[in-house]
Amino acid sequence: MTDLFDKCKGDGGYFGSLRVRGDRYFNQPVLEGTPGPRMKFGGKEVVMWAINNYIGLCDNPEVRRTAVESVTEYGTFTPMGSRMLTGNTEKHIELERRLAAFLRKPASILFNYGYLGVVGTIAAVVGPEDQILMDKLAHASIVDGTILASAGRRFRPFKHNDLNSLESQLKAANRDRKGGLLIVTEGVYGMRGDLADLPGICDLKERYGARLLIDDAHGFGVMGAGGRGTGEHFGVQERIDLYFGTFAKAFAAIGGVTAGESAPIEYIRYNARTNVFAKSLPMIYVDALTTSLDIIESRPELRERMWTIARRLQNGLVELGFDIGDTASPITPVYVPAGDENVAMQMIRMLREEHGVFVSGVTYPVVPRGTVMFRMIPTASHTEEDVDITLNAFRAMRDTMKIDTAARPTVVA
Ligand code: PMP
Repeated sequence: MTDLFDKCKGDGGYFGSLRVRGDRYFNQPVLEGTPGPRMKFGGKEVVMWAINNYIGLCDNPEVRRTAVESVTEYGTFTPMGSRMLTGNTEKHIELERRLAAFLRKPASILFNYGYLGVVGTIAAVVGPEDQILMDKLAHASIVDGTILASAGRRFRPFKHNDLNSLESQLKAANRDRKGGLLIVTEGVYGMRGDLADLPGICDLKERYGARLLIDDAHGFGVMGAGGRGTGEHFGVQERIDLYFGTFAKAFAAIGGVTAGESAPIEYIRYNARTNVFAKSLPMIYVDALTTSLDIIESRPELRERMWTIARRLQNGLVELGFDIGDTASPITPVYVPAGDENVAMQMIRMLREEHGVFVSGVTYPVVPRGTVMFRMIPTASHTEEDVDITLNAFRAMRDTMKIDTAARPTVVA
């Protein structure tokens, strides 16, 4: 007889070989210090490139002060209960109003985690007769939202950012159409850093009578002249039906928001199980987010600074021969030649131990099988010196390890 837990003893499951080794180096490394460009790892200072602190709000003193004042007044627990029962306050309502205005939408709804926001939004608006068209590289929360939606059995993946593939799926969906259609893509693809072709996707969704949800976790507060995201970047924000952003990245907090027309947002409020059956966002975050939003709205120079650092890092890596793919955002993937995990581990170890440069490796299931990359996040808090130390480290690592930068990864789907 097989015991349920037998599988837990072997090396199956996600990152199984690291789990059985009890690895705390490549997986769950223990970091010390305030999240930012300099942290401690293994007792030594490192230049940190693995944190989504895009515009440097992690160590912002105004946000910190607001949070301290808030926790003094409200503790960690206020308000108690779901928004639907005892967890609603004027401050939650006001933050939703401000976020909606910022995102140029009539209404918005807060969620406690971005993950819960994406899952809840999809599962709320998609019913049994509806169909979901999803980019093949969509984030796990989009996949899980689709599974949770009763329409999970009717989802149609399209090739990454491929308008022909999307159009043929739209045509197929229309042939046996009984309900509505929802297209879901990321705005900035969180691992590759490339952008969804939003103008083309908007044209198609209008031609075929579909609705569009953009998970802009990595574009929110980052892309566009005003930090409103990838929709603003392309000038199509008003054509996006549901815009989602997380607070866990540029906003340096926790939670997420979905913005759109009032009727769908109110419907989501009453039908997203991740809103109805979960405690509401604690006041400490509601207050801190109000200050973060003030900064994002009033200090575009933070985004300009982030781009300066991003360009210096990306140009430098390309000059050294490294493959950074087709990123069009600060996200800087460095593809490991030939997609070799063992080489990647040696590279990571050398960067950390000999050069004090901390990068994280990314493998399946975060990216498709066969792809191995470092995912680097340049931020407004990094200095030119941080970039130069890092580029020197990459050069030395390339030469010492005799890395053949011309060997392309096997899969970059
Ligand atoms: N969507 C995307 C594209 C993401 O990258 C993430 C975070 N990794 C999420 C959703 C989930 O957001 P959160 O971390 O706020 O739960």
